[in-house]
Amino acid sequence: MFENLSERLGGVFDRLTKAGALSADDVTAALREVRTALLEADVSLPVARDFIKRVQVKATGASVTKSVTPGQQVVKIVHDELIATLRGDEDPGKLKIDNPPAPVLMVGLQGSGKTTTTAKLARRLKEREGKRVLMASLDTNRPAAMEQLAILGTQIGVDTLPIVKGENAVQIAKRAKSQATMGGYDVYLLDTAGRLHIDEVLMDEVQAVRDAVNPRETLLVVDGLTGQDAVNVATEFEGKVGITGVVLTRMDGDGRGGAALSMRAVTGKPIRFVGMGEKTDALESFEAERVAGRILG
Ligand code: GDP
Repeated sequence: MFENLSERLGGVFDRLTKAGALSADDVTAALREVRTALLEADVSLPVARDFIKRVQVKATGASVTKSVTPGQQVVKIVHDELIATLRGDEDPGKLKIDNPPAPVLMVGLQGSGKTTTTAKLARRLKEREGKRVLMASLDTNRPAAMEQLAILGTQIGVDTLPIVKGENAVQIAKRAKSQATMGGYDVYLLDTAGRLHIDEVLMDEVQAVRDAVNPRETLLVVDGLTGQDAVNVATEFEGKVGITGVVLTRMDGDGRGGAALSMRAVTGKPIRFVGMGEKTDALESFEAERVAGRILG
């Protein structure tokens, strides 16, 4: 497994026996280790570089109290900066979905966990907030994806929009809107078509859906195990569609969660939830402290 960052820095600072102020050389040596730790945690290179620069400014000249070693002091500065970077909204798990029925658009690449996350979110809204939720799949290219959402809906006791063959994504979205309005739903979740790569046609389709329903939230679902890829996906979706938040899936896996830092640094958007497993109750509100600890190892 990965070497704990504190242990690594311990080695760097072995030669320093007395506490004092951190010198520029000490900091540079320590930050080399921090950079390696970030890259091992799957933080993308440009984000790691920027992060290191910020820490360098804060750490150089910082005083080291008697109770901690210089290494521990650097780890603390890095840890605090990680949390400051990761933290977004005060309550990331609380969506802005007043004024019913509130449309929520779920976007992302195929296989990221988008459909599962749609069901997880529906269940959470229903069980924790007592919301009446409607889900609709807009994936006209993949009937199996539509059926998957319907099956999940039955499992969690959340309604899904009946499937009507031959409709396009915008037509389905509009039908979801009118059913949500007439049926007295609080929120309707639109599971947009997954795609293997960023693809112009599907981006145009998401834009058209967005323009048709004017979503209160547009959540990008990305695989938390992918580093730089996740960042590229986020940049693309933010530029073309605009997102209000991110859901990182597969955070129950072995990954160190560096994608969280990359996503946050690049998009500036809050990470709202993390997926912690395949089951529909495995969705947690994002906690910066936990992810920071994990990135540092
Ligand atoms: P989509 O193509 O983006 O809609 O992806 P799916 O929702 O169909 O999910 C793809 C696979 O990832 C399924 O086997 C899910 O059970 C699994 N999955 C989704 N979210 C998570 C998660 O947070 N953790 C784990 N371990 N698996 C997940």
